[in-house]
Amino acid sequence: MQQEHKGMEQAKSLWLAGSQKYSFPAVSEDLTADVIIVGGGITGIAAAFEMTERGLDVIIIDAEQLLQGTTGHTTAKITSQHDVYYYELIQQIGMPKARLYVEANEKAKDLIQARIKEHDIDCQLEIKDAYLYTKEESGVKKLKKELDAYKQLGIDREWKTKLPFDADIKAALAMTNQAQFHPLHYLNALIDKLLERGVRIFEQTTAVDVKEGNRPAVVTKSGHHLTGRYVISCSHFPFYDGKGLYFTRIHPEQSYVVAARTTKPLPDGMYLGIDQPAHSLRTAEWHGEEVVLIGGEGHKTGQGGDESAHYEGLETFGDATLGIEEVLYRWSTHDMVTMDQIPYIGRLTKHHQNIFVATGFRKWGMTTSHVAATLIGDLIEGKSNPYESIFTPSRPVTDSFVKDFVKENANVAAKLISGKFKRTDQTIDDLKPGEGGIISYEHKKCGAYKSEDGNVFLVDTTCTHLGCEVAWNNSDRTWDCPCHGSRFSITGEVVEGPAKKPLKRSYKEQ
Ligand SMILES: Cc1cc2nc3c(=O)[nH]c(=O)nc-3n(C[C@H](O)[C@H](O)[C@H](O)COP(=O)(O)OP(=O)(O)OC[C@H]3O[C@@H](n4cnc5c(N)ncnc54)[C@H](O)[C@@H]3O)c2cc1C
Repeated sequence: MQQEHKGMEQAKSLWLAGSQKYSFPAVSEDLTADVIIVGGGITGIAAAFEMTERGLDVIIIDAEQLLQGTTGHTTAKITSQHDVYYYELIQQIGMPKARLYVEANEKAKDLIQARIKEHDIDCQLEIKDAYLYTKEESGVKKLKKELDAYKQLGIDREWKTKLPFDADIKAALAMTNQAQFHPLHYLNALIDKLLERGVRIFEQTTAVDVKEGNRPAVVTKSGHHLTGRYVISCSHFPFYDGKGLYFTRIHPEQSYVVAARTTKPLPDGMYLGIDQPAHSLRTAEWHGEEVVLIGGEGHKTGQGGDESAHYEGLETFGDATLGIEEVLYRWSTHDMVTMDQIPYIGRLTKHHQNIFVATGFRKWGMTTSHVAATLIGDLIEGKSNPYESIFTPSRPVTDSFVKDFVKENANVAAKLISGKFKRTDQTIDDLKPGEGGIISYEHKKCGAYKSEDGNVFLVDTTCTHLGCEVAWNNSDRTWDCPCHGSRFSITGEVVEGPAKKPLKRSYKEQ
């Protein structure tokens, strides 16, 4: 395997490379609109598009730049095959609701394709079958249950015992007629349309609060008020909690992707291995050439140990499966997961009539972002929507999820205190250039990064969101919070929320 990564742009996704189309100003005055959308990823853009289809005037704000969050780092399979999921979902919410879940996602998939066709969007859309596969006997059992669920739910499917790229598999389950695309080409085309429709877009504008009322106002870090009839939180982790206790109900999960030239082409299809560590495969176009995206190695954010080991895991798997000629890009990001694995889409809490949220897509946000757009559009228009009760964030949780909930919180609580009292003997001198870690400095523990030219950047490792201890991510050179997924730069600036304030830098640097 070649591991030289020649010409590779570190930590920038294949989608983001060369797709930066717009730059928007920051908000500099108080403004009003029908709908204020916070967050400019696929959820915010899809919601804005839907609102304008319904004749509403929209403002979108983003804390950084549009499409640079999780959306810019996805693998962009447009599918209702959400891993091995439906057998469990039927047990959890019953057959009628599970059918509605599939229907909602299939409609969302069709909506994306219809928009691409209607607006003649060139975004490398390709119809493909989506495969789950296993090399283990225990996996075959799981897949057989999932096949049974597909039959009961009426999902078009195929069962296979061989795949063209890997003779060793024991079984595979295909969901037919799914799709893949270039997410940023699609979303940039939607942004073109939004601008034509008069949508006002602002970047470098962080929402920090909402003044609730008949006309809720989003308050920005710069102190401006954006007042609307409705507010939609599309900020990935909800920027405003409104006593919804979201910080106890969702957690971030990190995943990695490698884009590579391979010696053997990936046979037609999109693939997801269900054995651990799970690996995903799809093709993508890169400067007119077909390359392969190898994804997976997921874990809770900040809890995966050495990040480079996960990239190596992907590359070893990619090399064994298709032969890697050259790695072009590597990137990682996280997505939010809810306690019962079903997204939260709808009113922020049952007391909020005009503040909505869409989050917790569990790495399947291409379709679920569009489920969110139409569902929230219907709620705003006072129309009934068959999917409301499945996705409402106010849904009751069953006992088993309460247990998981407690376990999750125990995990978060452990992360809150873990490391706080741990001593370290490591000092600045122990760090090599280009390396970061927790060190002891002037008898205090702090986070340090030593740059290639020897400059040292020190930060307080207490996350400014809820006080967990951040961990060093050596691949992306960020400080990552294991509790709710905030990420900070080497100088402590917020790279990704929910944290809104930078890490403290109360130390004098070298
Ligand atoms: C590695 C990986 C692979 C994936 N592959 C797939 C796949 O194949 N298919 C699929 O369906 N899904 C996939 N997903 C999931 C999908 O990419 C996500 O669910 C989706 O991109 C989330 O989009 P979003 O708009 O909700 O969040 P984001 O894209 O993160 O957008 C949120 C935006 O909100 C902004 N923001 C945050 N806080 C504030 C604030 N306070 N004020 C203003 N703005 C704020 C951020 O700057 C950001 O731009 C994958 C996820 C991962 C991690």
